[in-house]
Amino acid sequence: MKNLMICSAVVLGGLAMTGCDKAVDKNAAPAHAAPAAQIAANAESHEGWWCDEHGVPESVCAQCSTTLAADFKAKGDWCKEHDRPESQCFVCHPDLVAKFAAQYAAKYGKEPPKPN
Ligand SMILES: [Zn+2]
Ligand SMILES: [Zn+2]
Repeated sequence: MKNLMICSAVVLGGLAMTGCDKAVDKNAAPAHAAPAAQIAANAESHEGWWCDEHGVPESVCAQCSTTLAADFKAKGDWCKEHDRPESQCFVCHPDLVAKFAAQYAAKYGKEPPKPN
């Protein structure tokens, strides 16, 4: 509603000042375009819950986030050999693949793509 009111004001103001429709259209366009772009950006941020590359949720993927990595290291949960948390080291603990895959399956009802 606010945007509509702003547009009306621009149209009225433009007509009163210049009487030129083309000039009014130019001014009005960005007001309509901005909210659509914001909606698209928000929709994208809901994707990427799963880290395809590492086979764990992004929210706990220490291989994608240096902040998370520091947390895991501080807790002593770190595999120095493979440079990832011990609790996410599929090399040392192959059974963890199934544990994380179960979280994916619970959310999407299908098996996750195989991590690299
Ligand atoms: Zn990752
Ligand atoms: Zn390891």
